[in-house]
Order: sequence, then C-alpha cells, then structure tokens
Amino acid sequence: MRDGFPIFDAHTHLGEAAHSGRTWSAEQMLAKMDQHGIDRSLLIPFPVVDDYRKQHGQIAAAVREFPKRFAGAVCLNPFVPRPEFEDEVRRCVEELGFRAIKLQPQYQPLNPIYARSDFLFEAASRYQLPVIWHTGSGAPFALPSLLIVPARRFPDLRIVLAHSGGSSYFLEAIVAAGVCRNIYLELSSLMPHHVLEVLNHVAPSRLMIGSDLPESVETEISKISGLPIAENQKREILWGTAAALFGE
Ligand SMILES: [Zn+2]
Repeated sequence: MRDGFPIFDAHTHLGEAAHSGRTWSAEQMLAKMDQHGIDRSLLIPFPVVDDYRKQHGQIAAAVREFPKRFAGAVCLNPFVPRPEFEDEVRRCVEELGFRAIKLQPQYQPLNPIYARSDFLFEAASRYQLPVIWHTGSGAPFALPSLLIVPARRFPDLRIVLAHSGGSSYFLEAIVAAGVCRNIYLELSSLMPHHVLEVLNHVAPSRLMIGSDLPESVETEISKISGLPIAENQKREILWGTAAALFGE
C-alpha cells in the first residue's frame, strides 16, 4: 500500500539468469516489496535459465509460502520438444497454480504471426492464462503490432505487451491496443509523458505497472503516482488491472 493505493507489480523476475548472472531470491523480493509498499508481485523466471523446471519450482515455493504476496508465471524456451513444453505448462498451472505465461522474443525467437507459433497461444487458451509478451527491444518479433495477429486469432485470450513497446514503439502499442480489446499494456520503461499519451487512447482498466528489475521499482511506481490523473485511474493502473488478470 502506498499513499492509499494498493500496488501490484505485474512484471518482475525471480531466480537465476544464465545470460546476465543476476540472481534474486524470494526473501530479497519481499524485502524490496515491503520497502516500497508493493502488496503483490507476479514472479517470472528470467528468460535464459539453466533449468526451467527448477526456476518454476523456486517461484512455486515462494507462492506457496506467501500466496497473498506472490503469483507465478511460466517462462521457458518455446523450442524444447513440443510434448515437453506442453507438459511443463500443464504442470505449472495444474500443480503449481501459475497465473500467466511469458515470452521474451529477444532470447526466445518465436514469431507471433506464424501459425506454427499457435501452440503457445493454444496452451495459454487451454488454461485461460494471460500471455505476457516482451515488446520493444528484440524487434522484429518484439514489435507490438505483431501481437494483433494472435489477439485476433484467439479473441478470448488476454495478451499483455510488456513495456508497451518501450519508448521507440509505444505508439505502435497504442495502435495495437486500439485495434484489439484483448491487448493490455504494461507500462515499464515508458516516460511519464508517454504514459499520458497512452491514457489518451487506452482505458486504465487495460494498463498496469511492472518494475522488471528491482532497481526500477521506485521509478515505476512514482511515475504513475505523480501523474496529473484521477485517483481511480491510478488505482486501476497500480492494482486493479493486474489483480483482474493475475488474481488477488
Ligand atoms: Zn522482464
């Protein structure tokens, strides 16, 4: 809770990153959340890991111990053998209770407009999991407009564009969200005036905050709480949208 607003961080990472060497534990995450008044966080594995089952297990243990503070998300290389991919998504949902699936195209180069990529969206649909797609750096598969194709092909699926395309492509994210009502935007890395432009086009009930990394927590929260917008709009962005997608 912060200035009367509950806070849901819809994009953060727990575990060990094989590419960057970062490690972040549940204890460190809780301490950071308490320091900044974050009530609940969606924990996502880093995009490159040595053992995705172990990373999912670490997140599941944190969720089990602190179910009000944490929700879990699936993230694994989509090019493992298909039965292995499908079994891990099933395990994460049915046994571990995860609430979303993330894809990070700059490390996991899946083209969202190919029909051969449908398996990921079909797996998400099977379990009504929102799909979180990193957008911005990592073009072309990270371009926001490409997600219009699966959003139309799977109209019941909710697709979250992480980073809203970043400062280079946030206008494209606005267009994608305008075209598809099942596209949501997570606002990390945008500047405050970008967020105000997003709000000119997209309802706050489809917008949410994320920190991505602990160094950005304070910036990402205060850039929303400091905007000259209505309190109920801030409440949706800071809590309501993520709570509706990933559970309270
Ligand atoms: Zn991230």
